[in-house]
Amino acid sequence: MKPPSLSTCSHERIQPFGIRSPNSDFTLSQNAKTQNGNITPLEVAIQQLDLASEVLDLDSTVCEILKKPKRSVIVSVPIKRENDVINVFTGFRVQHNDIRGPYKGGIRYHPDVTLEEVTALAMWMTWKCAVADIPYGGAKGGVKCDPTELSIGELERLTRRYTTEILNIIGPYQDVPAPDLYTDAQTMAWIMDTYSQFKGYMVPEIVTGKPVNLGGSEGREGATARGLTYCIHEAAKHVRMRLKGATVVIQGFGKVGWNAARFLHEEGCKIIALSDVKGGIQNQKGIDPIEVYEYQKRAYPSHYKGTLPLEYDGCTRITNEELLEIKCDILIPAAMENQITEKNVANVNAQVVAEAANGPTTPEASKILVEKGIFIIPDILANSGGVTVSYFEWIQNIHREHWTREQVYSKLRCQMVKAFKDVFATKKDYETDMRTAAMILAVGRVAAALRTLGLWP
Ligand code: NAD
Repeated sequence: MKPPSLSTCSHERIQPFGIRSPNSDFTLSQNAKTQNGNITPLEVAIQQLDLASEVLDLDSTVCEILKKPKRSVIVSVPIKRENDVINVFTGFRVQHNDIRGPYKGGIRYHPDVTLEEVTALAMWMTWKCAVADIPYGGAKGGVKCDPTELSIGELERLTRRYTTEILNIIGPYQDVPAPDLYTDAQTMAWIMDTYSQFKGYMVPEIVTGKPVNLGGSEGREGATARGLTYCIHEAAKHVRMRLKGATVVIQGFGKVGWNAARFLHEEGCKIIALSDVKGGIQNQKGIDPIEVYEYQKRAYPSHYKGTLPLEYDGCTRITNEELLEIKCDILIPAAMENQITEKNVANVNAQVVAEAANGPTTPEASKILVEKGIFIIPDILANSGGVTVSYFEWIQNIHREHWTREQVYSKLRCQMVKAFKDVFATKKDYETDMRTAAMILAVGRVAAALRTLGLWP
């Protein structure tokens, strides 16, 4: 076995802000109990690391170092609600590893956020940046809250207070946040402004995923989905699939799911099912995601994220569970962790599973997908387009440059195709599956950097 190579290794719209659900009686926590009874994301992340370490025959101390984050911070975030009552939320920032560059990772707002989940996501960021071969480490943040229950003013106060609480551990060369679940360009603008107010001058490079008029990169909003599409192109060559007419099922119609639907629709794929937290729609004749998006915008003009129109013309209403079992060419989980599990994997009927979400498949289920001959584009590769364009945004900010969308996407394509090829080459070298190959490549790169530096003092 060879060691992994160390050296090589839109018209987009910024949606108007506001995360309220159109149904006031609807809360995320009632609908997102997907992890109950399943292995936790941190257990998954550690199992994956153990497996890669074993294959790489890593020194056990290196593996021990990589199993633990360098820093975990829990903060309390008090804010005044619209009714003048003060609520205290809990926030987290976990910095897993920065040996290859500043910590980098999104911030999510969700009622189910825990320190454990954020730790797993931070670890995955370290591997993702290593697979994409960009000079960043891994971090993640979150605030335990239901953003659909907060007003825009409350979200702004929550974001600014959370930023203040983590101010001394973030910085353009220290830790650079980005959007994730239920946070967006507006959230990043508030973080940038809060940080800059303390500094006394504007520091756009403190966050990525900002609005373009505040130094955000062209194409960042669709970057994760664009990168995913480039990976799907590469995978299609290996499974000899024609993308024109290929059937696609997408779970999650947020920043990543909606853009993936749009880009694949433009490529001539047939989107046969879509879903969000409340459920999904299916139409074997094909769904036009742009029409659905426009309908959603018309139906919920004051909310940037209404829910899918579940009674959409010609479509059958389905549950998220049913959606994952629809026969299709490409299945894209683009919502939460732990969606494809031992319970439903036997019924997954796709040729390619492209993991836009982080950790959507449990290790057991992943093994079964491989046994079934399904080609997996693992999360740390599939969704690395987001952090890659974040890296481009950071470079543009530091140099006070502004690249065109064409420049951004052309550089992104090069990075994604190279990352896919690196993973595929590792898969062949180690005679393993794509996920294990991606982990071997990533952990190998990080461990090599650790070995070169040695332990100080
Ligand atoms: P988002 O908040 O914009 O959208 C999330 C979507 O998932 C919404 O449509 C929501 O209704 C749906 N959803 C939430 N819970 C669900 C559930 N239990 N079942 C089904 N659908 C559910 O978030 P996003 O930025 O699109 O992120 C989606 C996933 O992609 C997350 O796992 C995130 O970590 C990952 N990711 C995002 C980026 C990025 O650039 N935004 C980059 C890499 C990875």
